[in-house]
Amino acid sequence: MVEQRFEVERKRLVEELVSSGIINSKEVIRAMSKVPREEFVPEYLKNKAYIDSPLPIGHGQTISAPHMVAMMCEFLELKVGDKVLEVGAGSGYHAAVIAEIVAPENAKNPGHVYTVEIVKELVDFARKNLEKTSYIKYVTIVCGDGTLGLPEYAPFNKILITAAAPKIPPPLIEQLKPEGILVSPVGEPHFYQTLQKLVKTPDGKIEVSELCGVAFVPLKGKYGWKI
Ligand code: SAH
Repeated sequence: MVEQRFEVERKRLVEELVSSGIINSKEVIRAMSKVPREEFVPEYLKNKAYIDSPLPIGHGQTISAPHMVAMMCEFLELKVGDKVLEVGAGSGYHAAVIAEIVAPENAKNPGHVYTVEIVKELVDFARKNLEKTSYIKYVTIVCGDGTLGLPEYAPFNKILITAAAPKIPPPLIEQLKPEGILVSPVGEPHFYQTLQKLVKTPDGKIEVSELCGVAFVPLKGKYGWKI
């Protein structure tokens, strides 16, 4: 019964995101309609899982709002088979949505998501959430400073940062494949930032464009904010 209620609420939220023009692609619609966000929020917030808002997940961090997860997935132009790096696993929800797109059921060449989280307790929280929803099969979660990337798994087709960076960390640009896309909020912590899209051309040149205004928690680590 409860699951049914969540399904109805999830469907309604996705319809709203489609009618407001936030989601356009069939694949993002399918993934957002499938991944149970209620399994990625603390128990006491389950009833609020389908409000289009960030929610606290402890340690001063938040699970991003559904519209932001959907928008970043659209901007990344995700494809089946993509190898994706996420900086900031948080609850594991965004990684699960990406896994649903790059490694759908019965894919011949499933992609994979590597997600890095700096707060140990959140690594455990994300892992538990990804295990109970079975997305762990296509998501590798690593505890550490994501601004350094993951050289052992590089290069990546797509990279996203889910915290506000002072500037895009150079190791992440290095670890992006030619023709790859990186999306990140860039700007002051605890204020509004700009979502930037960085594209690496086939000959390795970098092109950066500004997408929209956003508000994210600050990125920490070597190339993050010293706060
Ligand atoms: N993508 C998440 C939302 C994460 S909020 C979700 O779907 O729930 C941003 C996360 O980035 C926080 O959990 C924070 O601890 C983490 N973070 C901040 N700086 C980091 C860094 N340098 N490396 C890895 N994770 C970082």
